[in-house]
Amino acid sequence: MPELPEVETSVQAIQEFADQSLESIEIYNPNLRWKVDSKSFKKLFGLKVNKINRRAKYILLHIEKSQILIHLGMTGTLRIANKKSNFYKKHDHIEFIFQKGKLIFNDPRRFGSMHLIGEPSKHFLLDKLGPEPLSREFDGEYFFQKIKKSLSPIKNALMNQQNVVGIGNIYANEILFDARIRPTRKSKTITKKEHNKIAESAKKILKIAIKAGGTTLKDFYKPDGNKGYFKIDLAVYDRANEKCKNCKKESIIRIIQSQRATFYCRKCQT
Ligand SMILES: [Zn+2]
Repeated sequence: MPELPEVETSVQAIQEFADQSLESIEIYNPNLRWKVDSKSFKKLFGLKVNKINRRAKYILLHIEKSQILIHLGMTGTLRIANKKSNFYKKHDHIEFIFQKGKLIFNDPRRFGSMHLIGEPSKHFLLDKLGPEPLSREFDGEYFFQKIKKSLSPIKNALMNQQNVVGIGNIYANEILFDARIRPTRKSKTITKKEHNKIAESAKKILKIAIKAGGTTLKDFYKPDGNKGYFKIDLAVYDRANEKCKNCKKESIIRIIQSQRATFYCRKCQT
C-alpha cells in the first residue's frame, strides 16, 4: 500500500502537469471506492492546473476554485504517458489529458478514490486529519499532549490519522524500532523524552524514504511502469526471526496488533 513517502514522491513526479491546461478527462471505469462523478469533471476541461500538492496521503490538483482529490488506496498508481500513446493497461480507470502528456490512474483493487471538491479542509475525507509528520506542528510535545491519557498501544496511536497523518504499518514499525520503543506500550506510559525521540525518528525515517523514492521514480513512472512501490532498507518490518540489526543478538519478534503485523526486538525496544 502506498504510504506517505510514496505519495510525496508521486506528487513530485507529476509536477510537470502543474501550470498545464487540462484538455479533457476520460473515465473508463468510475467504480472506485466511491463512484466517480463523471459529469462534475467535465467543467474542468480547458482549465489550468495551478498547483499539485499533498495532504496526508491525498494528492490534490488545484484548478481554479476546485481541486481534484486523489487517493491511491491499496493498489492505485499514477503514471505518465505520451499524449499520442494509446497503450491501455488493464485497470486503467481514469486518464487526464493535458497539453503535453497524459496522467493515468490505474487501480486493480479499486480502493482508491477521486473526488472533485471545494475547500480541502472542509471535505469529509480531510476535515478530521491530524498534522503532517514533517511539519513543525508535529513534535514530541504535541504528541505527548495529544495521547498522554490514551490507553491504546503507541503503535496504534502513531497510525491514527487524527493524531498524525500518513504513517502506515510499515513506517510505524520502523519508527518505533528507531526510537527503541516497544510497539505494545500503552500511549499514556510514554514519557516526554520518549515522545521527542518518536517524533525525531518519524521525521528521519520518512525523509529517508522520500529521498529513496526520488531515486526509483524514473522507472516507476515509465509508461509501462507500475513496478510496485519502492521500499527503503527496512530495519525491522518483515524481518521475523532474523537477527536484530541493532543488538545483533536477539531475533525479531512478530506479533499481531489490531489485525496488523508488528515486528520488534525484545532487547532493544522497551
Ligand atoms: Zn535488538
